[in-house]
Amino acid sequence: MERRILLVYTGGTIGMVKDYGSGALKAFDFKKLLKHIPELNQLDCSIDTVSFDEPIDSSDMTPAQWVKIATIIEDNYEVYDGFVVLHGSDTMSYTASALSFLLENLGKPVILTGSQLPIGDLRTDAKENLITSIQIAALHKKGIPVVREVGLYFEYKLYRGNRTTKINAENFQAFASLNYPFLIESGVHLNVYEEYLLPYKKNKKLIVHKKMDENVAVLKLFPGITQSLLESVLHSKGLKALILETYGSGNASTQAWFLKSLKKIINEGLHVINVTQCSGGSVMMGQYETSSALKSMQVINGKDITTEAAISKAMYMLGSGVSQKHFKTVFETSLRGEMR
Ligand code: ASP
Repeated sequence: MERRILLVYTGGTIGMVKDYGSGALKAFDFKKLLKHIPELNQLDCSIDTVSFDEPIDSSDMTPAQWVKIATIIEDNYEVYDGFVVLHGSDTMSYTASALSFLLENLGKPVILTGSQLPIGDLRTDAKENLITSIQIAALHKKGIPVVREVGLYFEYKLYRGNRTTKINAENFQAFASLNYPFLIESGVHLNVYEEYLLPYKKNKKLIVHKKMDENVAVLKLFPGITQSLLESVLHSKGLKALILETYGSGNASTQAWFLKSLKKIINEGLHVINVTQCSGGSVMMGQYETSSALKSMQVINGKDITTEAAISKAMYMLGSGVSQKHFKTVFETSLRGEMR
């Protein structure tokens, strides 16, 4: 059966071609996709495209645009079997994480991909990334989509989107998912690791959330951080949640001024989330003396979540109106497979 796939082009290197006159990279007209990648004709699926009116470099991505992508998926959900979102790699992990929260009860594949080299480049990685993403978005087993979550496909691997981080600005292997195994590997065959995929939820209706509250901040700790810097972040106007990037397994300074400021602001209602600044591994508050105080002052345990996912989870939870009382418990619960 021929599957229907919707390609959503948001921008990024993948959709660029060299202007033969000026030599500069520019976004190409996505309606002419088949002209650039005639290989797509060989796929056993029909492909439609929709594009942002003005494709963007992903450094310009905003929560409003995450909602726009989610809405495009919502509007086309019944018509298509799968979705491939073409996106710049720089903030792709943030968008993948955000979409995972915005699309509750997702029952179809939403695959984000992009490339390090433009699609018009001789050595481009765009073709493989795009073609395999489409194949994954079309994969079915016994009439059920194989992937029912937001994935990120890059350089032969499909990852859970909200587990990824961009780790390299140069290599074709630009992403890593250090705390969760990849879901599919593309070699001679597509090897699907079903045990790692989110389970199929029968009869669950897609719910698309549309509110993200941007009043969050990230503070990366470093030796020598000053009280005035900490205070200015903690007292930023309107701030509701702070992702504190701590050392190792969730450790922080034990200096009195540091702990006192933090304790005071938590008592005043700021949600402080402990996320490790290591790329892999987990926060374990209480393992060292340097995290015991954080634990006792009710800092939220970010466990093995990425900073990207923590930011969008906080925005999503604040936007959904999760109460002050339940915020810690809900944050510490895995909602879309983003933490253990
Ligand atoms: N700066 C580009 C972007 O993120 C890089 C890329 O597409 O990979 O939009």
